[in-house]
Amino acid sequence: MKNITILGSTGSIGTQTLDIIRRHRADFSLYALVAGTNAELMAEQIVEFRPKLVVMKDEEHAEKLKRVLGDSDLRIIYGMDGYLEAVSEPTVDLVVAAMVGMIGIRPVIKAIESGKDIAFANKETLVCAGHIIMPLARKMGVALLPVDSEHSAIFQCLQKRVEYRDKDKSKIDFWDIFDTGDIEKLFLTASGGPFRDAKYNDLEGVTTEQALAHPNWSMGSKITIDSATMINKGLEIIEAKWLFGVDVDDIEVLVQRESIVHSMVGFRDGAVLAQLGTPDMRVPIQYALYYPDRVELDEERLDFGKIASISFEKPHTDVLKGIPLALEAIKTGGTMPTVLNAANEYAVSKFLKKEVSFLQIYGMIEHAMSQHAVIQDPTLEDILETEAWTYKLLENC
Ligand code: NDP
Repeated sequence: MKNITILGSTGSIGTQTLDIIRRHRADFSLYALVAGTNAELMAEQIVEFRPKLVVMKDEEHAEKLKRVLGDSDLRIIYGMDGYLEAVSEPTVDLVVAAMVGMIGIRPVIKAIESGKDIAFANKETLVCAGHIIMPLARKMGVALLPVDSEHSAIFQCLQKRVEYRDKDKSKIDFWDIFDTGDIEKLFLTASGGPFRDAKYNDLEGVTTEQALAHPNWSMGSKITIDSATMINKGLEIIEAKWLFGVDVDDIEVLVQRESIVHSMVGFRDGAVLAQLGTPDMRVPIQYALYYPDRVELDEERLDFGKIASISFEKPHTDVLKGIPLALEAIKTGGTMPTVLNAANEYAVSKFLKKEVSFLQIYGMIEHAMSQHAVIQDPTLEDILETEAWTYKLLENC
């Protein structure tokens, strides 16, 4: 039985993780559930899953949860100290990192320092602190199990060779698959989002509702807007670079409208492996929870007889500028990816509140990146200070 802490249990990834656990109650126990503000849903999760500890964003929401929950002796705490306690408890085996945004950086680092395997959804943490997280994970011997569907697809394409080489699974070193030197190229697929066919002028009057209407995936609001701007794909390029140790010039993005091919790996002998499936995040979540095993998931299957075509196109990076902005940030390096990410988080929260336009998201990122004096090889403190610098800059615009 795996003992689990879920960071972001009330979100899209968090609730789908709990759905997997609901179907396999004998295989998992829950140590802590961690969330921001959704006290009502957290109360329901507590009643159903009986965690030992619950952490909310702040005192206000912890008190609200206590009121909603009524008479209970469950320990409910709040804030960063609570997140760090939830991930470092000695009995926890696996931390599901599914908070949204940079707030997840310190809990993820603490979890790795505490020797926990991570089911990794919270891509913003790798974008900003990949140079800290990756060597730390190797040093601590913990597994970083990708949950993002594209990265899980790549991860799944890499597995077979390890099982073939080392039939006794207990001998598999998690990091073996990353060190073979066999990868020539990664193909990251993208649905293209709701504006994949838009011209630049079409984007001027785009509403929040239009941007939230993703054609294929149902996700949290921030990542849905990131998909519409293609910033999400830019962040995923950086995430893939860190996870798989591949140069960003060897990562090609392809628009795959049907969201059937979740990503592909090109090997040095010219072979290409792909992972296919319906657009259901429970597949990569379950794979991360059970790795290296596969267990049944009784959901819709691909029906190849009904699939008219599987198409690939180059993305229109001159219209949706997420990919070029992310490439500029990662090639500059140091604190620049943090500026990209923090400016995006700030701009998207403003767009969701209808305080800025869709195109202003790019403008705010470009402005912050143009004003930033890069710190190379930043410490965690440098990263958090850069986040604060970016917010201050944009607030004063
Ligand atoms: P959601 O917005 O649906 O959920 C975010 C979760 O984080 C919620 O539980 C929220 O709590 C919690 N949270 C937010 N701020 C805080 C805070 N300050 N303190 C504690 N908890 C907080 O996001 P998603 O589930 O869509 O995404 C989560 C991560 O996974 C993101 O990094 C995203 O990029 C990544 N991801 C998501 C995919 C998807 O299909 N959704 C696919 C691939 C990656 P509350 O709601 O209670 O405030």
